[in-house]
Amino acid sequence: MKVLIIEDNQDIAASISDYLESLDYTVDIAGDGMTGLNLAITKNYSVIILDLGLPDIDGVDLCQRLRQDAHCSVAVLMLTARGSLDNKLQGFESGADDYLVKPFALKELAARIKVLSERINRAPASRLQIADLSLEEATHEVYRAGKRIELSPSSFRLLMYLMQNPHRVITREELEYAVWQESPPDSDALRTHLYNLRQLVDRPFDRPLLHTIRGFGYKMTDKYAED
Ligand code: CA
Repeated sequence: MKVLIIEDNQDIAASISDYLESLDYTVDIAGDGMTGLNLAITKNYSVIILDLGLPDIDGVDLCQRLRQDAHCSVAVLMLTARGSLDNKLQGFESGADDYLVKPFALKELAARIKVLSERINRAPASRLQIADLSLEEATHEVYRAGKRIELSPSSFRLLMYLMQNPHRVITREELEYAVWQESPPDSDALRTHLYNLRQLVDRPFDRPLLHTIRGFGYKMTDKYAED
């Protein structure tokens, strides 16, 4: 499970990181708000530990941008040295999921992270996510790296099926059935839709998520190095 620590105090960041790594978490550290925001949007974390007082943008502002601008639903645990009720309320209004006042015990922090990650895993699977690409089944909204992507209904169904079945090879026949059931419009329709999908979802971004596995089919994954 991946955790991002956004904290400008290096000693605190390092001690949290060491402790979480000893519990088998994978940890990234950002020493300022903009680096943290950028990592949070482009990588797929289970939980973000966010310091309220940062040198550039503060934690409340960062959390708001994460929720409102980037539509990122990752669990956020906010840290603050200031324990006042006002700060606490501001933290929750900005979209933080939990709150911890410094100084805190690392054991307490780890317990909170565990609860947050389990809560996220139990949430209904209406939102699909691979790396920085997300798809909301209920609202038919697709975002990559915070940018909204408009898809036709067929392309949306195609992408949804690929994202519901990540990291495995899916044949042409299986994809055609997922989008058009028994009656695909013609033999080239799938090829055209995949081409269009790539132009919108992969081409403008730094790395492809949709891969052609020659002779077998297609695979949606962020764990593919050979391509
Ligand atoms: Ca700080």
